[in-house]
Amino acid sequence: MFSKIRKTINDGKKFLITSHIDPDGDALGSVFSLFWAMKSLGKDPLVYLKDQVPYRYDFLPRPPDMVHQLPQDVYDAVFVLDCGSLFRIGDGYEQVKSMGTIVCIDHHETNEAFGTINLVERSASSTAEILYGLYKSMKIAFTENVAVNIYTAVFTDTGSLRYDNTSPKAFAICKEMVEAGVRPSYVAQMVYETHPKERYLLLGEVLGTLQTFDNGRISMAHVTDEMFRRTGTNREHTDGFSEYIREIRGVEAAVFIRQVSERRYKISMRAKGKVDVARICSTFGGGGHKNASGCTIDGDLKEVEAQLKKAFSFA
Ligand code: 5GP
Ligand code: MN
Repeated sequence: MFSKIRKTINDGKKFLITSHIDPDGDALGSVFSLFWAMKSLGKDPLVYLKDQVPYRYDFLPRPPDMVHQLPQDVYDAVFVLDCGSLFRIGDGYEQVKSMGTIVCIDHHETNEAFGTINLVERSASSTAEILYGLYKSMKIAFTENVAVNIYTAVFTDTGSLRYDNTSPKAFAICKEMVEAGVRPSYVAQMVYETHPKERYLLLGEVLGTLQTFDNGRISMAHVTDEMFRRTGTNREHTDGFSEYIREIRGVEAAVFIRQVSERRYKISMRAKGKVDVARICSTFGGGGHKNASGCTIDGDLKEVEAQLKKAFSFA
């Protein structure tokens, strides 16, 4: 399974490593861990991420020279991690196709196998779990830089070891990373307890929009540009909001709607195993996992809400 990728790394020197826009813990932990793993092999990796690192992930050991502008260069291989579709890496994604062999390592249900080499394990808790196996097979040491990134990726993509994808393997990897020196309380504090007060002012406004329908099976809430302006916040502060409204008793799917521009909304869905939100998001051109997915819908808020309610009535 890993042999082609092992060979690609061993035979090459210069690599580009990237992941999706709005990077989450798995995207960042995967990309950063691969950077440090390649460094330990004497390689020359470069990390490109379209977006900045969200404040809650500032503590992750990151490459000192990461770039946010797609470099105009060629590589022995371009590693695209935690992306179901290539366009998720952001503007200029088509250029990447001519920059080198594309290695796609991912765990999304809706992965499109866009790589030259594809390592897609849909049953893996996280992309970092797949990388952990690769590192083991290459005898790469779990130094602090690698271990903190792997731990955080697995921990956050399993919703703090709570979601359906929390497997014995996810626990085993976390255990091994803790044995390698990761402090779970430190990671949890950094990820979940470093919010500015403004985030809670925004949360209050968002919860004010909460509605449920279909006998309480579906919860829905939204954030608008105006709410961001009023509370001095931005999209970074909404991370985790879809999980809040999923916690409601009886809710089987939570839908969080975030305004992106005047007539464009980004949708985040979370489920508890009964509703396949990846399928619902794919009807809008999005995707993800059965229990956590996303898509973008154009229109005004009322139209977007109506389209979503319609999509769920067939779920
Ligand atoms: P989130 O709601 O946290 O942004 O995303 C949940 C999951 O769905 C993540 O695994 C993310 O990669 C995936 N996802 C979010 N938005 C999109 C999208 O527009 N298209 C696809 N294919 N996947 C998405
Ligand atoms: Mn992931």
